[in-house]
Amino acid sequence: NYGLPLSSPPAPNKNRQEGKQRISVCVRKRPLTRAQSRRGEADVVTTSGGECVTVHESKEAVDLTQYILQHRFYFDQVFGEESSNEEVYQGTAYPLVQHMLNGGKATCFAYGQTGAGKTHTMLGSSAGEPGLYTLAVRDIFAHLSTSHTLAPLLVYVTFFEIYCGQLYDLLDHRKRLFAREDGQKVVHIAGLRDVRVDSVSSLLQIQLRSPNQQIRGRMWFVDLAGSERASDTKDPDKQSRMEGAEINQSLLVLKECIRSLDQEQSHTPFRQSKLTQVLKDSFVGDSMTCMIANISPGNLATEHTLNTLRYADRVKELRGQGGLRGGRRSKTMPSPKHNLFNSSAGSSVV
Ligand code: ADP
Ligand code: MG
Repeated sequence: NYGLPLSSPPAPNKNRQEGKQRISVCVRKRPLTRAQSRRGEADVVTTSGGECVTVHESKEAVDLTQYILQHRFYFDQVFGEESSNEEVYQGTAYPLVQHMLNGGKATCFAYGQTGAGKTHTMLGSSAGEPGLYTLAVRDIFAHLSTSHTLAPLLVYVTFFEIYCGQLYDLLDHRKRLFAREDGQKVVHIAGLRDVRVDSVSSLLQIQLRSPNQQIRGRMWFVDLAGSERASDTKDPDKQSRMEGAEINQSLLVLKECIRSLDQEQSHTPFRQSKLTQVLKDSFVGDSMTCMIANISPGNLATEHTLNTLRYADRVKELRGQGGLRGGRRSKTMPSPKHNLFNSSAGSSVV
């Protein structure tokens, strides 16, 4: 025994156990890419106060004049385009790493439209900015090397993907895998390769194990499929429709599973999607969850950006006590600055 209990006793208000937030919902806006700037796309997303994000949506009134609607959202944390991966890490994944090092379970999701910055956030960029996995592994090794109680623990990683409801091992030539529940209702992925690592690399699940292979802490990094593909019903291709349906179902069930994590419901619909089945353990007991909604600032992405923020907003609202500190609710209102896009339609604002 390394003095690391796998779960702590239940507290009355689970979401604020020992002052730490069990479910946090954050937003990260990326900068305009060079390609977007070249196309002359406008930046229609503003962030303020570390908790507020506003989308300025350009609309056309019946008389064809333009006006702006402001959609304002509040989250636990909002990271602007100037934020580095290190800053995002400190505010989102770092508390989860601490929890894991104390023997707990943690899951960090990146969610958003394709191109919104999920991979940049989770994996990092080739240009040398390490992502959240890498920073987490860095901290885990740092703790193992300095702590007497943690020193005997070993670090294992697994890396796989879910595609159209099927599992593929990314460490073993995309070999097809199968998830099964044992007699204790624990989900296992049969044949999934795990690899002991001694250095930093791109990972999806990190496990801390004792020398006799008992799990002493676990953390998932989940890069959710592009949310816009879930709603793309215009695509005639059957494969894309299947993908879309799977993503849609995963997002729906994920929301329900997060709800039950907050409210300790007796029935959690884990089995209704492969994603939540595999992550089952993340929605029970002392687990901590962080969702990072990645958004693009460009005006051409406005609709997808709003969809991403609305989904994140609903996840936030699932938490007991009205979601957010101070109970600030998201809202939509006409812009006080009607000339933001050279519009003169002040009187036609609806
Ligand atoms: P996704 O994984 O959501 O599809 P990516 O992470 O691949 O999106 O990001 C799309 C592009 O934007 C990439 O070229 C990436 O390097 C760039 N990018 C994303 N986020 C940032 C950021 N915070 N700062 C600078 N560049 C970013
Ligand atoms: Mg990606």
